[in-house]
Amino acid sequence: MAWYRENARALPWRETCGPYRIWVAEVMLQQTRVAAVVETYNEFMRRFPTLVSLALATELEVLVAWSGLGYYNRARLLHKAAQFIVGERKGRLPATAAELHTLPGIGEYTAAAIASIAFGEGVAVVDGNVERVVLRLTGRASENTAAARGFVRAQAQALLPQGRGTASRREGQSGGGAGPSHSDNPAGDHNQAMMELGATVCLPRAPRCSECPVRELCRTRGEHLAPARAPQRSQPAACLLDLRKRGPATEVLLERRPSDASVMPAMYELPPLPLEAVEGLEPALRIRHAITNTNFYVQVFSARHTAPASSGSRASTGKRSGAAAQVLRGAIPSVAHDLHWTRTTRLASLPLTGLTRKVLQRLKVMEKHRVALPE
Ligand code: SF4
Repeated sequence: MAWYRENARALPWRETCGPYRIWVAEVMLQQTRVAAVVETYNEFMRRFPTLVSLALATELEVLVAWSGLGYYNRARLLHKAAQFIVGERKGRLPATAAELHTLPGIGEYTAAAIASIAFGEGVAVVDGNVERVVLRLTGRASENTAAARGFVRAQAQALLPQGRGTASRREGQSGGGAGPSHSDNPAGDHNQAMMELGATVCLPRAPRCSECPVRELCRTRGEHLAPARAPQRSQPAACLLDLRKRGPATEVLLERRPSDASVMPAMYELPPLPLEAVEGLEPALRIRHAITNTNFYVQVFSARHTAPASSGSRASTGKRSGAAAQVLRGAIPSVAHDLHWTRTTRLASLPLTGLTRKVLQRLKVMEKHRVALPE
């Protein structure tokens, strides 16, 4: 705990013990890097400062505010749970892990994190970081078995300090204003300290044992490396950037994904193109986009500026460019024709896929900072 008080990163959700704010942060942090969460979290909290404001929002507004974080089902379930809590529980989040676990989108880890950090319940949080620290401290091999998971859970629980904090944690109440050093929540702070140790010192491939506050207790001290990650797959992909002028406005062609799609339903994206349709054409942009263990190597073709890779005179290049644009537009698969010409000034208020947002920002079709949310 002494180490944590000195070394905890200053993260926006650590400046509060409001259950709603902690809940949103924990859901965003599932499978997402802390750095990516911080910016979206602040904007999300500006738009939905209370649980009631989230419950009253439309799903579209919530998806827009979530845009760029990925795994959009988390946002939908968070929204559903907020509506349930407002409708059925007078707007109050349950205070125990067991009850929290019954809400949409709140699994065992998230329930334990909210219950301990926001309400002081003595329940251990076991995420990937905590699991790694426990296995290295004890020297037990990493195995994907029920017995191994039970062992880690029991060890993490045994390490928890006894006694519930005296703080009465209620929405909007700050934790004393100075983060972890002034908290009186032993279980919540211990859980955060364990996760912080795993995230910043006991790193998967290069643990910093010389800086570790528990190295005297550790049985492995750097010899117990994490198992190799699942190999990354590579997949090529292509999409179309088609812009047009309508008076003073610029419009971009977007496709809305089917509402029953298994991945990113109802989100807007640049129309995907079949790879065979773009063979021999020079893309306007090449970009890598990682989703879980797949690296998508995406080529973006501009309908206005695409020309075959081997260019000749300006006039002939112009002709070929126009012809290429026609080919590209015609190559959008006919099954996917939920196409919309959208003003570029409206882009920030649409639920865009992460890749589309990245491309539009990189090509300066859309501003990089500040998501303008619908009022
Ligand atoms: S001593 Fe090294 S391996 Fe052991 S807990 Fe600390 S950082 Fe991890």
